Amino acid sequence: MNYRTNPKNGDKISQLGYGCMRFPSSATAGVSDIAEVKRLIKTAFDGGVNYFDTAFVYGDSEKVLGEVLEDLGIRDKILLSTKMPQFSCKSGADFETYFKKQLAALRVDYVDYLFIHNVSEKKRWDELKSWGILDWIQEKLDKGQAKNVGFSCHGSTSEFKAILDDHDWDFIMLQYNYLDENWQVGREGLKYAADKGVPVFIMEPVRGGLLADKLPPKAKTAFDNLPTKRSYASNAIRWVLDQPEVTMVLSGMSAFEQVTDNLTTASEINAGGLTDNERSAYVAAAAAIREFMDVYCTACGYCLPCPKGVSIPDCFYYYNLSFIDDMASVKRNFAGFVGNGNISACVGCKACERHCPQSISIAEKIAAARTRFGL
Ligand code: SF4
Ligand code: SF4
Repeated sequence: MNYRTNPKNGDKISQLGYGCMRFPSSATAGVSDIAEVKRLIKTAFDGGVNYFDTAFVYGDSEKVLGEVLEDLGIRDKILLSTKMPQFSCKSGADFETYFKKQLAALRVDYVDYLFIHNVSEKKRWDELKSWGILDWIQEKLDKGQAKNVGFSCHGSTSEFKAILDDHDWDFIMLQYNYLDENWQVGREGLKYAADKGVPVFIMEPVRGGLLADKLPPKAKTAFDNLPTKRSYASNAIRWVLDQPEVTMVLSGMSAFEQVTDNLTTASEINAGGLTDNERSAYVAAAAAIREFMDVYCTACGYCLPCPKGVSIPDCFYYYNLSFIDDMASVKRNFAGFVGNGNISACVGCKACERHCPQSISIAEKIAAARTRFGL
């Protein structure tokens, strides 16, 4: 494992962080498989990962992570981060209500890195300030309940800069990968934060799995032609870790093979470590992906739950896939894994759209997918 230094506080952080958003499921829907989670976390920890990240809105993730860390006895040997769901807060009192629940679920007195989750518009940040969030943050720091406080952002570069400049943040996190280099906060925002000496953590390096095995054939060929064979996910993570402005990249690992593959990746690459051939392969792969994508969905799930039960990201996954894969097989898989009745349940109410960080016209695109699938 290679480590990077937090430029603000000197923490030695494994350049690969464990994202706990997608723990493996048990036989019961919505419940994580604790024994398997324990195996994955232990493997990652033994391989040098020392940063583990969760959030209030990741299902049972905080509860399961708390139990596993206690079981393994490694809480004090790692950096623990979680995210306070500001988007669910209706007043300043809610900050503490959520945070108390989070500490209890995690079975800890403090977290090392506390995010204000998904602050993507300056207007919303101003509202949070009017509710006293700056005093609340200072109180958490003074009491030692949070060692560092930052924010995650899916907004535009300009919104991001405005929020970043408005407070002395300890760290920030943004979505970044070779397909999204100039999307949302993007490279410009990454450099802006790094120039200010703010540690930058990265989420979505594999873009919800799209940059792993879901790549279209032309994009796969770009990587298959490289002299060193690696998994597509490994190539995606290498692109992020090549960049010196990045302090740590989070990967949401839900399978043992992902953990071991990521450990290998993070022990091989360093900033500036890509070859020219590799750099060309990313450009070719990104162009090949853009050729087929109709909906720029990252599968973040913020639009869920839909009041009608529509599995929005799954619908978009198969819809996008239908442009590069055999239609009959896509339709068969869609019917089997998602269900034709699922997409047909959409009533076009648009309740989901205000939650989408990618500003997708979800109702319109769901209708397009229905037409394409003949449903
Ligand atoms: S527009 Fe469709 S997908 Fe979105 S919330 Fe309404 S019913 Fe659900
Ligand atoms: S439609 Fe938007 S909010 Fe929903 S999963 Fe896709 S990117 Fe996320």
